[in-house]
Amino acid sequence: MLNKNQIYKTEITGLTSEGNGVCHIDSMAVFVPNTAVGDILNVRIVKVLKKYAFGIVENIITPSSDRITSDCPISLKCGGCMFRHISYEAELKFKHQRVYDAITRIGGIDGSLVGEIIPSDRIMAYRNKAQLPIAYDKNGNITVGFFAQRSHRVISVDNCLLHSEAFNPIIDCFTDFANEYKLTPYDEKSHSGLLRHLYMRHAMETDEIMVCIIINGKKLPHENELCERLIAVENRIKTIVININCDKTNVITGKECRTIFGSGYITDKLCGLSFRISPLSFYQVNRSQAEKLYTIARDFAELKPDETLLDLYCGTGTIGLTMADSVKRLYGVEIIPQAIEDAKINAEINNIKNAEFFCGDASLAAEKLAQQGIKADCIIIDPPRKGCDSTLINTISEKFSPPRVIYISCDPATLARDLKIFNELGYSAFKVIPVDLFPRTGHVETVVLLSHKKPDGHINVKVEFGEGEGKVPLDNIAKRAEEYKPKERVTYKMIKEYIEAKYGFKVHTAYIAEVKRDLGLPMYDAPNAVEELKQPRKHPTAEKVEAIKDALKHFEVI
Ligand code: SAH
Repeated sequence: MLNKNQIYKTEITGLTSEGNGVCHIDSMAVFVPNTAVGDILNVRIVKVLKKYAFGIVENIITPSSDRITSDCPISLKCGGCMFRHISYEAELKFKHQRVYDAITRIGGIDGSLVGEIIPSDRIMAYRNKAQLPIAYDKNGNITVGFFAQRSHRVISVDNCLLHSEAFNPIIDCFTDFANEYKLTPYDEKSHSGLLRHLYMRHAMETDEIMVCIIINGKKLPHENELCERLIAVENRIKTIVININCDKTNVITGKECRTIFGSGYITDKLCGLSFRISPLSFYQVNRSQAEKLYTIARDFAELKPDETLLDLYCGTGTIGLTMADSVKRLYGVEIIPQAIEDAKINAEINNIKNAEFFCGDASLAAEKLAQQGIKADCIIIDPPRKGCDSTLINTISEKFSPPRVIYISCDPATLARDLKIFNELGYSAFKVIPVDLFPRTGHVETVVLLSHKKPDGHINVKVEFGEGEGKVPLDNIAKRAEEYKPKERVTYKMIKEYIEAKYGFKVHTAYIAEVKRDLGLPMYDAPNAVEELKQPRKHPTAEKVEAIKDALKHFEVI
């Protein structure tokens, strides 16, 4: 049995999906952050649980050959990077393995389909977006930074090595302004204070910069002066926007934006096309890697001039629009209204005439499109981390049955879960390519080509969609799509699977319900359910509570 505070000599033999080192002491798995495979070290045990324990590095006896010296003074504290202490080669190996493990263990898919990971050309200053929380530092001055690992404590950042260097003078200028005028940072607990986040975007190809200040209020004092000061330090700033978020939430942006300088958006170039990006629209954070990702997706799609392409979770339309020249018709679906507005304008500014975009939940919109008789030869899905729901997978398989589906994912675990459902419905994965869009962090993107096992099983009828003779009217789908209320479809099963895959233990439904209830989340229990308890109800352990909260965060429920 391991004891808290005791020190053990051991070797790190693997990394968890989050990137923490794992070693085995007395046949118990011990998780040790900031370590590398092959480190021989003394580990101090800090927490012992039934099946595993947590430790911290006491001292390293023989460093792993993967180790490098961290080039960031705050990398051990900051929650932004995971891998500043290991070589990029070792990081790529870990990410490839992470995709391989998820695909084989959760997805039940042949691991030999997983191709080489595509490395990033740049591993420094590649991020074109920063959303930095604002808080008081220990001297009572306003500071802008990153959250510490697994915490909402803000660590000041002077020179983040991941994001565009253009952001640093903007951060300094904004911090000076906020301190001079004694503005207050937002406090999550008391839901008071004005300044929530400083959010910046840098269109790296066109060199245009957007600054957005997210506030818990309607107005920022001395707005005009702030604009003048910011533009004086960085003349590439094309627009400055106030985003209003007065909700008690950890969602960063609110729904309302007010432009205080410029046009309210910036424009970037991707795969030779121009894309307008407004503050609430998604845009890939690593532009040059996104081009590689889209190129792979395009190769997988093998599009032909008479085909129809459906781009689900399309954001500002980037993926579909870069392929629109290869198809007859393109339809895009996305839930954020501003992103759909951008997508429509992006089609216009690139002179693309065969594209239509709809605002709504991908699952509901796909169902409606199918009902209208739309056929798709290729469907691209690029959902957020929680993956797509099984209803959408069913609709794709049963109602569209396209010869090719391309799944782009930023979470190997939910990807693998969804691939399993696809497989049960007759769609097999043919190629799996991990792409490193997020160097030095634990995240990895994956693109998968799926194909129907029975390629001749579908009827290839082309129906044109729009106004006019022989076309299927779909003019009011956008209006109807707006009425769709996106429902939170995170099920207890998803939470359980996520926790089992990540933490290796099971959690009871009652425990998830208890945590949800404690957090004040809506419960969907049947109103007439009668519960007979044979034994008094037990409560979840602190670890299980943390795991459940982690899952709820992962699926964006909290
Ligand atoms: N394909 C785009 C965006 C991918 S990010 C690109 O490469 O740039 C995922 C997108 O899915 C986001 O734009 C997000 O707003 C959108 N989204 C999230 N939930 C959705 C849902 N239920 N239905 C449709 N779109 C959704």
